[in-house]
Amino acid sequence: MGGTKLAAAVVEPDGTIATRAVVPTPVSPDAQTVAAALDGLVREVAERGPSRRLVGLGVGSAGPLDPLAGTVSPVNITAWRDFGILDALRDVLPGRPAVLAGDGHCMALGEHWRGGYGDRSVLGIVVSTGVGGGLVIGGRVHSGGTGNAGHIGHIVVDLGGPDCACGGRGCVEALSSGPAIARWAVEQGWSPGDRPADARALADAARAGDPVARRAFDRAALALAAGIVSAAALIDLDDVVIGGGVSGAGDVLFDPLRAAVAELAGLPFVTRVRIHPSTLGGDAGLLGAAALAMEAARA
Ligand SMILES: [Zn+2]
Repeated sequence: MGGTKLAAAVVEPDGTIATRAVVPTPVSPDAQTVAAALDGLVREVAERGPSRRLVGLGVGSAGPLDPLAGTVSPVNITAWRDFGILDALRDVLPGRPAVLAGDGHCMALGEHWRGGYGDRSVLGIVVSTGVGGGLVIGGRVHSGGTGNAGHIGHIVVDLGGPDCACGGRGCVEALSSGPAIARWAVEQGWSPGDRPADARALADAARAGDPVARRAFDRAALALAAGIVSAAALIDLDDVVIGGGVSGAGDVLFDPLRAAVAELAGLPFVTRVRIHPSTLGGDAGLLGAAALAMEAARA
């Protein structure tokens, strides 16, 4: 669930998607209106899929959220503040477990599952309007004290850096999110012509050799690399998987990112971390939410 769309899928035990549906997130101040759209979507895929065999319901949401209380307050779904999403969906699969996790956690778990990472320690990062993430350690999501671990976007990487939407300063997100990259490029004189001044247009410009666009991605990659190197030093990471719209920039992001990680990292256990583009795109979150439901059903 995010501010733009609501997506649902029936996922098989082997990680293939049996059926899926997507609807735009209703723009409404009414919590029940948004919940009704989600309820209808989930029922639709549940009925289309092999409903008798459905073992549980996994819900991934943009944050902030409280997975233990089952409530969400997504920044971009203003109708929901401390909204009891698991209670709202409880009747969809009566008697079966329903679990809630952050979208970054679901992405990381989905990538871990389908990527065949096994016991490797994986950091999943979503670089989009914000920068989110999740950690999978020992095959399980590391949730932390309140279910919010893995927020790589709010690791501080620039001590004199720009203000961040979180209320802090110098965070990875303030330097590496799509809007942050595009904003910096515009400030440096880049113009997208008749296109919106966003990270997608900037990536096209960088691929075409625009020097400001290239510097913008280099700068974002350096901040992201600083976050990754810090996380790798703390957790002894094996792999980092990067998804989200900005990762679609491809080599103009990943080439300077790998170079910056090599430049910033020193210790051998940190330099060994491997960086991969997501191979699942938007499906990673659906798969991770399903994996959580399957795990809950086994417990
Ligand atoms: Zn922040």
